[in-house]
Amino acid sequence: MEYEPVIGLEVHAQLLTSSKIFCACSTAFGAPPNTNTCPVCLGMPGVLPVLNRKVVEFAVKMALATNCRINTYNRFARKNYFYPDLPKGYQISQYALPLAEDGHLIVETAAGKKRIGITRIHMEEDAGKLIHDEHNPYSYVDLNRTGVPLIEIVSEPDIHSAEEAAAYLRALHEILVYLGICDGNMEEGSFRCDANVSLRPKGQEAFGTRTELKNMNSFRNVQRALEYEIKRQEYILEGGGEIVQETRLWDDSQGVTNPMRGKEEAHDYRYFPDPDLVTVHIDETWIEEIRKTLPELPMARRERLQKEYGLPAYDAGVLTSSRALADYYEEAARLCGAPKIAANWVMGDLLKLLNEEGKTFDACPVGAASLARMIRLIEDGTISGKIAKELLQEMYAAGKEPEEIIAERGLVQITDEGALKAVIEEILAANPAQVAQYRAGKEKVFGFFVGQAMKATGGKANPRLLNDLLKRMLAP
Ligand code: ADP
Ligand code: MG
Ligand code: ZN
Repeated sequence: MEYEPVIGLEVHAQLLTSSKIFCACSTAFGAPPNTNTCPVCLGMPGVLPVLNRKVVEFAVKMALATNCRINTYNRFARKNYFYPDLPKGYQISQYALPLAEDGHLIVETAAGKKRIGITRIHMEEDAGKLIHDEHNPYSYVDLNRTGVPLIEIVSEPDIHSAEEAAAYLRALHEILVYLGICDGNMEEGSFRCDANVSLRPKGQEAFGTRTELKNMNSFRNVQRALEYEIKRQEYILEGGGEIVQETRLWDDSQGVTNPMRGKEEAHDYRYFPDPDLVTVHIDETWIEEIRKTLPELPMARRERLQKEYGLPAYDAGVLTSSRALADYYEEAARLCGAPKIAANWVMGDLLKLLNEEGKTFDACPVGAASLARMIRLIEDGTISGKIAKELLQEMYAAGKEPEEIIAERGLVQITDEGALKAVIEEILAANPAQVAQYRAGKEKVFGFFVGQAMKATGGKANPRLLNDLLKRMLAP
C-alpha cells in the first residue's frame, strides 16, 4: 500500500515589541532570572492586564502578509492548565474569535510553487521557563519570558512531505524577519514549530490518526523529525497496527521521536473568554494604515529583481535572503548601472568578507555607494578586476573609499600604450629563447609573456591592451 503524508504546522513566533503583551515589563532576552517581572506577569491576585497596541499592529502585519481575513472584533480567552511555568494557572490566548483567519502562503518547493492554507493567526502570551540543573535537587523557574507576546500561526493540513514542511517554515520565517516583527532566532525559541502528521492511503480523502511532534529547534530537525515519523507510522500501518493519537518529542541525539508523558496529554483546557480584557476592535482605517507600512515581501522582491535587473533566479534568491542585503544590492546596482556585475561582487567577495566575521549587511563597512564606484572604476578601465579584489579587501578593512586607496597605492591601470610598450620591449629582450619559440609556432608561450608583463607592472597592465601589444610585438 502506498501512503500519503498529511502535515499541518503550528508555529509560535515571538514578537519584537520592547514590552510584554499585558504589562510594561521588558522583553529583553538574557536578563538575570525574574528581573523582568511585575505583579501583572507574575499573576498576583487583583491585577488587570492591559493590551499592548504594538502587539496587535505586528500581528495584523503578519495577517496581511499571509493573505488572512482580519476579524474586526476578536477576543482573548483563557486556556487553563497547571504547570509551574504558568503563574496564573491559565494562559491568555485567543480561541473562538482569533485575530485572523483563512489565509494562505505561496511556497516554492522542488516541484514548483505550492499554495498552503493558513487556518488562523492568533495572539497570546508566552509562559515562563523551567530550569533543571542536574547537579541540584531543585528545579528553578524564570518568569522573565512570562507575558512575552507571541503569535501562533496554524496551517491547514495541506503539506504532503517533510521537504514541503521545511519550505513552508522557511517562507514563514523569512516573512516574519522581513516584516521586522520577529528576530527569528530558533535557538532562543523566538520561532518554534509543532508538527502534526498522519498518513492516509494514496487516493483516500479521509485523514488518518495524527501525532503531534515537538522539540525541534531548527528547520533541519523539523524535516528530520517528520521523515522519521512518516516512516514510523508507515511501519505500524503496514503491519496492520493502529496509530495512537499522542504528542511525541523529537530526540535529536538519537534521531527518533518518543511519546511524551505529562502536561499536554488528553487535555481539557476549559477555554472561556477572558473577562479582564475587552473585545479587540480593529477597524478598516487602522488596517489600511498598517498595510501602508508593509515592505515588499521576499517572493515578490525575488521576482522583481529577476525582471528589473535580468538576474538569474539563483542570484535573486541569494540577494533577497535578507532585507538589508537586498536593499544594499539594489542601491549598488542602481548607482553603478551594471546589475549583474554588482550581483557578482555582492554575492561573492563581499559576502565572503562578511561571513568570515559573522557579520550581516546591516553592518557592512563598505557602503553600497563605495562598492558602486569601485565597479565603475573597473568598467571604465581605471583598475583591473584583479586589482579590484585586493582593493575591496582594503576598503573593507580600512573603511576607505576606492579612489583614496588607488591614489595612495598607485593602483591605476596602465592604459598608456607607450609605457606598456617599453615594459614589453624589456621583457622580449631579456627572453630571446621564448621569443624564438613563440615565433616558431609554440603559441603556449604567450601566457609566459602575459605573466612577465603583469609581474613587471604589479598586475596593473590593462589586460586587453597588453594582449594586443604582445600579439603585435611578438609577430614574426
Ligand atoms: P490542536 O489544537 O489539538 O493542536 P488543531 O485542530 O488546532 O488541533 O490542529 C492543529 C494542526 O494539526 C493544524 O495545523 C492542522 O492542520 C493539523 N491537522 C489536523 N488534523 C490533521 C491530520 N489528520 N493529520 C495531520 N495534520 C492534521
Ligand atoms: Mg496543537
Ligand atoms: Zn510584567
